Amino acid sequence: MADDPMPDRPSPTGLASPRVRVGLLAAFLLAFDLVLLASVPGPTTALVGSHPTAVAVVVAVAFALSERLVFHIEARNEAVSYSPSDLPLALGLLALSPVAFVGARLAGAAAGMVLWRRPPLFKFAFNLSVFTAESLIAVVLFRSVVAAGSAVTLATWALLSGAMLVGLVTAGALIAVAISFFEGDVVARVRKELTHSYIFYLPGAVLASSTVVPFLIEPWLGLLFLLPAPLVWLVLRSHGALMHRYSDLTDIHEFSRQVGRSTELEEIADTAVRQIADHLRAGTVALTVWDVEGTAVHSCYGNRDALHALPTGPKDPEWADALVATAPLMIQDGDPDGPLQRRLVAAGLGQAIIVPLGDHAGLLGALLVANRHGAVETFTDDDRDRLRPITNQLVVALRKGQLHLQIQHEATHDRLTRLPNRAYFEAWAEQMLEIETERSHAVLMIDLDRFKEVNDTLGHHGGDLLLLQVTDRLLASVASGDMTSRFGGDEFAIFVPGAGEAEASVLAEIVSTAIERPFQLGEATVAVAASIGIAVAPHHGSNCETLLRRADLAMYDAKRRHERSTVYRDDLEGRDSARLTMLADLREALATTSLEVHFQPKIDLRTREISGVEALARWTHPVHGAVSPADFIPLAEQSGLIYELTQQVLDQALAAVRHWSDLGLRIGVAVNLSPQSLIDERLPRMIAASLERARVAPGHLTLEITESTMIGDARRTLRVLESLDQLGVRISVDDFGTGYSSLVNLRHLPISELKIDRSFVADMVLGRSDAVIVKSTIDLGHNLGLTVVAEGVETAEVQDLLRSLGCDLAQGFGLCRPLPLAKLDAWLETSRTFSRTAESGSGAGPSLRPVRHWTAPVAGPDRSG
Ligand code: C2E
Ligand code: CA
Ligand code: CA
Repeated sequence: MADDPMPDRPSPTGLASPRVRVGLLAAFLLAFDLVLLASVPGPTTALVGSHPTAVAVVVAVAFALSERLVFHIEARNEAVSYSPSDLPLALGLLALSPVAFVGARLAGAAAGMVLWRRPPLFKFAFNLSVFTAESLIAVVLFRSVVAAGSAVTLATWALLSGAMLVGLVTAGALIAVAISFFEGDVVARVRKELTHSYIFYLPGAVLASSTVVPFLIEPWLGLLFLLPAPLVWLVLRSHGALMHRYSDLTDIHEFSRQVGRSTELEEIADTAVRQIADHLRAGTVALTVWDVEGTAVHSCYGNRDALHALPTGPKDPEWADALVATAPLMIQDGDPDGPLQRRLVAAGLGQAIIVPLGDHAGLLGALLVANRHGAVETFTDDDRDRLRPITNQLVVALRKGQLHLQIQHEATHDRLTRLPNRAYFEAWAEQMLEIETERSHAVLMIDLDRFKEVNDTLGHHGGDLLLLQVTDRLLASVASGDMTSRFGGDEFAIFVPGAGEAEASVLAEIVSTAIERPFQLGEATVAVAASIGIAVAPHHGSNCETLLRRADLAMYDAKRRHERSTVYRDDLEGRDSARLTMLADLREALATTSLEVHFQPKIDLRTREISGVEALARWTHPVHGAVSPADFIPLAEQSGLIYELTQQVLDQALAAVRHWSDLGLRIGVAVNLSPQSLIDERLPRMIAASLERARVAPGHLTLEITESTMIGDARRTLRVLESLDQLGVRISVDDFGTGYSSLVNLRHLPISELKIDRSFVADMVLGRSDAVIVKSTIDLGHNLGLTVVAEGVETAEVQDLLRSLGCDLAQGFGLCRPLPLAKLDAWLETSRTFSRTAESGSGAGPSLRPVRHWTAPVAGPDRSG
C-alpha cells in the first residue's frame, strides 16, 4: 500500500515553497533512515529461506509492479492509493536480510515510478525516503524481537503483521504531513490518515503476512492463502470503488448545499470553483458566468491566468465549438493547436476539462478545470464524467442566482426604462444625505407636460417610446455621479450630490432644453416639455421625503406658471393646502352653478363681421376673488369635475346664442373641451341635450379642442369626434402649433377650423420665423379647406399683417377682451356700427357687422387678463 498524493502546481519559492519543505522532510527522513539502518540487528542476515538473490529479484519486481497496480481512491481531500505492495513487504521482511530488503524495496519502487508514474524529482526523492522509512521501521521492529534463524511460528505471523502495520501507518502519516505543506491542515490530515486508513492498512498487513508466513512454513500452504488473497483484494477494491462513488455522491450533495447557500452570482461562482478544485483535485478552476444584462462574473481558483483562457462572452469565436457541446470536453496538451488550445497554453495550462454551462433556456457561462494534481497527474475520462453531475448542480444554482439578480433588479428598477425606481432612489438618496452632511444636495422632480395626451393619442406603445427617449436624454444630461430615477408614469427624479440651487437650476435648464427637442415616435413627431421642481438639502429639508415633497410642490408651481423650473419656496407649502381648499370650493361653485362665462368675439378679417364668440369660464372665489382658468381648469381636469364644468359652460354659452338669436342676431359660440372630455363617450349625448334645451341649431356651436388631443389613432377620441360631427357641430383645433405639428393627421379628422396659437401670433411682427409659421399654417389650413383663426391679436399691426397673409378670423385683446354677456351686449349696442343683414337658411337673425370701431380696445371687467 502506498499513498501518493503529492500535489504538483506552481507555488511560492524559498523556504515557504511546499516543494522545498517536502525536500527538507525527505532529507530529514534520509538521516533518520540511516540511523535506523545502523541500529537494525543482523543487517545482512535473512530470517529464513535460501536463494536470497532470487528472492530479492522477486521482491524488487513485485515492488515495481505494485507501482503499476496502484488504484486510487480519491475523495475530497483524501487520496489513498492502494497497491498490493504488502506482499513483497512481508516476503522481504522474512526472506531477505534487512539491507537486501531495503535495497530491493528502493530499486523496485524507483523502477516502478520511473517506468509508470514519472513524478517530479522532489516527489520521487520524497517517496523513496518514505518507502525506506516504512521498510526500515518494520524491519527494525520485527528483527528486534525475532532473532535470525528462529523458527517461523504463529508468533512470527503476529509480529510480522504488527511491524508492517506500524511501518505502513508511519508512512501514511508522513505523506499526510507532506500534503499539508501544499494544502494546509496538518493536524487534521494526520488524524484522518490515522483514523480512516486502518481499513486498508490492517487487513492489508494481516493478509500479506497470512499469505507469506504459511508459504514459508510449507510452500503449498501458501497456495491456500493465495486463494482468498485476490478475493480480499477485490473486496477492498470494490469497497474502494464504493467509497469512491459514495464520496462522489456526498461531494455532489455537499456541492449543491454549498452553492445553494447563496443566491448571489459571485458567491456561487466562488464557492463552486473551490468545491470543484477539491472534488477533482484540480490546481486551477476558472469560471465565467453572464448575468441577465450580459455582464460577466468571473471566479478563479489557482492560476489566475486561466481567466484569460475563458470565453469573453457567449459569442467568443474561439470557444464556439466548445460552447455548443452538451458535455464536458477534454482538451489535451497534445491536441493540434487550435485557437482554444493556444489560449490554454498561453495561460500556462496544459490539459484541461472545459464545460459549457447551460440549460434549455440558454448558455450561462463556462467552466475550465486544469492542473490536475494528486496520485494521477492528468485528468481521466472518469474525472470528466465525474464533473458532469457537479456542473448540472452548478447550472441550477447559477440560474437561481440569475433569477435572484433579476428579481432584485426588477424590485429596484423600472421595467420599461431600466432606471432605478422610487424605492431605490429614496434609499440611495437617504444614504447620501446621511453620509455627506457637509455638502448641499439637490433633488429635481421632472414631470412631462402633455404625456397623457401622447398616451391617449399614440397609444401606450407611443407613450413607452417617448419615455425611453426621454430617459436617454435625461441620462445624457446628467453627470455620472447623479442618480436618475423614474417614479412612474411621466415622473422622473434626479438626485444631484453636492449641488446647490444654482447648479440644480442649470441642470434643469439643460434637461428642459433636451426634452423640448422634438421626439420622433414612429411616424409621428412629438413635441413635449417638462416642468421641473427643485428642492435643495439642507436648506429645504434634510431627509429625502421632505425634499421630494417640496420638489414636487415646486414642480406643480412650474407647471401652473408655464415655467421650465421652479425652486421650492416656503409659500408653496401653503399653496398646496390652499389647492385642496380650492378644489372643495370649486366643487361648491359647480354645485351652486356660480361659475360664469365670458365671451370674446372672433372677427372676420375680410368682412369685419363678428363671426362668433368664444365662451371662457370665469370663477370668482368668495375669498380670493377672480381665479384664472389656468388654475381652476387643470384642477377640474385632475379631479374629475371637468365634465360638470363643461356642461355648465355649454349651457350658458348656448343660452347666450339663444338670447342673441332672440334679439335677431346671428352669433355662434365656441366652447373649449378638455382632452379628457374627448374620450368621454357621454359627451355627444350631453351636447345634443344641451342644444335641444337651448333650442340652438348644432351649426352654431363650435367645439375647441387642443391640437394634441387629435392626432394619432386613439379610437375613442375618433369615435367621439365622429359622433360630434354627425351631430352637426363644428370642430376647431385650438392652440395650433404648440402640440404635434403634423397637419397630415388632421386631414382625416372631421374638423373645420384651425386656431393658430397666440404665442406665434403675438411675436409675428417681431420675428420673421413666427410670421413664416403663421403664413404656412394659414396656407396649409386653407389647403385642407379649414377656416383659419389667429388668436391673441393685440395690435392693429398684427391684424394688418394677418389680413395680408389671408387669415380668415382674428381674436384678441386688440379686438375685444372677453366680456360677460351684458357687457358684450352693451359693446355690440354702443358700437352702433352694425349693419343688419338678413341671412337665409340658418334660421338665425342678421349678423352684426362692426364697420369701424371694432378695432378699438374695449375696456371690460375681464378678470383673467
Ligand atoms: P384658450 O382656449 O386659448 O382661450 C383663449 C385665452 O386667451 C383666454 O384666456 C383669453 O382671455 C386669452 N386671450 C384672448 N385674447 C388675448 C390676447 O390678445 N392676448 C392674450 N395674452 N390673451 C388673450 P383665459 O380665459 O384665461 O383662458 C385660458 C385657457 O383656459 C383657455 O385658453 C382654455 O384653454 C381654458 N379654458 C377657459 N375656459 C374653459 C372652459 O370652459 N373649458 C375648458 N375646457 N377650458 C377652458
Ligand atoms: Ca379656446
Ligand atoms: Ca387658444
